[in-house]
Amino acid sequence: MLLEGKVAVVTGGTRGIGFEIVRKYLANGAKVVLFGSRQETVDKALAKLHEENPDWEADGMFPKLTDAAEVEKAILAVKEKYGKIDILVNNAGISQSTPLYNYTPEEFDKAIDLNVRALFYAILPTAKIMKEQGGGCILNTSSMVSISGQPAGVAYPASKFAVNGMTLSLARELAKDHIRVNAVAPGVTRTDMVASLPKEMVDRISSTIPLGRPGEPEEVANAFLYLASDMASYVTGEILSVDGACRS
Ligand code: NAD
Repeated sequence: MLLEGKVAVVTGGTRGIGFEIVRKYLANGAKVVLFGSRQETVDKALAKLHEENPDWEADGMFPKLTDAAEVEKAILAVKEKYGKIDILVNNAGISQSTPLYNYTPEEFDKAIDLNVRALFYAILPTAKIMKEQGGGCILNTSSMVSISGQPAGVAYPASKFAVNGMTLSLARELAKDHIRVNAVAPGVTRTDMVASLPKEMVDRISSTIPLGRPGEPEEVANAFLYLASDMASYVTGEILSVDGACRS
């Protein structure tokens, strides 16, 4: 098992890609605390996991990810309960497809708050814990649009470009503390997020995917497993595309 004895925090772990990351980590021996947005969805996700395997050590919390103090409190509570945090996965995110002329500053800020600021809020207290314990691994969820941009919803690619910037910069800054920082950039992946996009947008993107189909959440989670494991011990500052080669 690739993550035996590790303690992981996964934000946005109640569904979609995040839920598959949580499953993959548990199946590989990690203890996982998933962060969701509501008690109800957290409980539902935990029930599903415990039904699949009652021995899995999964726990859940629902701090407001855009509130730095709440996130710090939650991270410190994980450290208090489990004694350490080996892996932080910043996966929670929202996409947008609003045309520029219909945007409001508030809508723009919503994407930046969750997709950028919230990562910083989680990374700050966690990196301090990781430094003190002698190392760790931080993983961020980027997107193929961080390479290509997208034809509407400019806040979303802007936020994912920022995710890449944080990843590349913190990889360099935190290497001396034995903290690896990487990102996974999924392409079109079959989750609720994609289901909420206009059908013609998804069809148009899907038709350009060289592998000929959208990705499955589990295929993306496999990249998160590799990067969190010791198999990636010399990998840091990497933005790993899992997109069927559809970035362009
Ligand atoms: P999803 O909508 O199925 O899941 C998003 C997760 O984020 C959920 O667990 C949700 O509870 C959480 N979340 C959303 N808003 C939140 C908030 N305000 N506070 C706390 N948690 C919140 O989406 P997904 O497709 O699984 O996306 C996961 C990540 O993958 C996101 O960062 C997304 O940008 C990225 N991504 C997805 C795709 C795709 O095609 N699905 C492609 C590229 C990148």
